[in-house]
Amino acid sequence: MKENIHPRYYRTVVTCACGESFETGSTKENLRVEICSKCHPFFTGKQKFVDTGGRVERFKRKYGMK
Ligand SMILES: [Zn+2]
Repeated sequence: MKENIHPRYYRTVVTCACGESFETGSTKENLRVEICSKCHPFFTGKQKFVDTGGRVERFKRKYGMK
């Protein structure tokens, strides 16, 4: 395998919005992602619920939950 005929392949640190970072191989030097295998519901199997502006509270009132 000749190095110079392949695109440059980095050991890339991917940084996620949740703070998780992990190494992977990529042709890009740095990667930033919004969601990763650590915080994506599809991978974690549970909903990550970020309550912004009291949506949960409104929801609870609407359905009469305390
Ligand atoms: Zn993440």
